[in-house]
Amino acid sequence: MFRTVKKGTVEYLEEKKLAGVDFLTHAFCTRHGGASRGGFSSLNVGDMVGDQKENVEDNLARIKSAFAVPEGGLVMARQVHGDRIVEIGENDTLPFPLTQCDGFVTGRSGVALGIKTADCVPILFVDSRLRVAGAVHAGWRGTALGIAAKMVGILCGRFSSRREDITALIGPAIGPCCYEVDAPVHDALAACPWAADVFRKQRGRERWMFDLWGANRLQLIEAGLSGGNIFTADRCTACNRDQFFSHRAAQGKDEGRQLSFIMMR
Ligand SMILES: [Zn+2]
Repeated sequence: MFRTVKKGTVEYLEEKKLAGVDFLTHAFCTRHGGASRGGFSSLNVGDMVGDQKENVEDNLARIKSAFAVPEGGLVMARQVHGDRIVEIGENDTLPFPLTQCDGFVTGRSGVALGIKTADCVPILFVDSRLRVAGAVHAGWRGTALGIAAKMVGILCGRFSSRREDITALIGPAIGPCCYEVDAPVHDALAACPWAADVFRKQRGRERWMFDLWGANRLQLIEAGLSGGNIFTADRCTACNRDQFFSHRAAQGKDEGRQLSFIMMR
């Protein structure tokens, strides 16, 4: 179950059960509590969307301060709608160099794995037994590439996690109410065994309403996670533009990006 809370100036969503895990900090930040104006109002973390650099830096500083992220500990990617997941190892130097990828994984404390979104889904992972955390950015392309399932593969392979110890949080993203897609999106996912459950054909048109949350949930179940360990925020960014940035709802106008992250203390 997700709830909206506030730390410092930062408003965010957290999953109630994981919020009680003592070694873990996680947050799906809303757009509230920052310094940016207009379409970036106010907690924009996107540095390539046209917002003033000082404001983005101020916003990131507010988040790091609110959640006590160590100096250099917030890791963010140049996200490219791919399926590359990068590990932050014990010996890697922080701040971690900006990398082109769409996911991070680490067994290291004091590293906040950050994902920027404005409709795409941020998914946070934790193995509470082995203390390994992960985060991915999944739009339709990342979902079609299976990035969430790939994370499960890395946790179970590289880190020897047991599937039953992995919890996944599917954060705020565009919902099945608002996410209309065309044939290339439908075709990219049509071969998935659960495709019929996540596409609703629009009558008389080659358009579908797509359930991006459900697609990732079903992909994770297919990858062996227990449905009871997958929590979905059920919060549509496009329906709730007062609370979240939404690329679609902004209709091509300036729009910020919200930050989601997970960190082991
Ligand atoms: Zn909606």
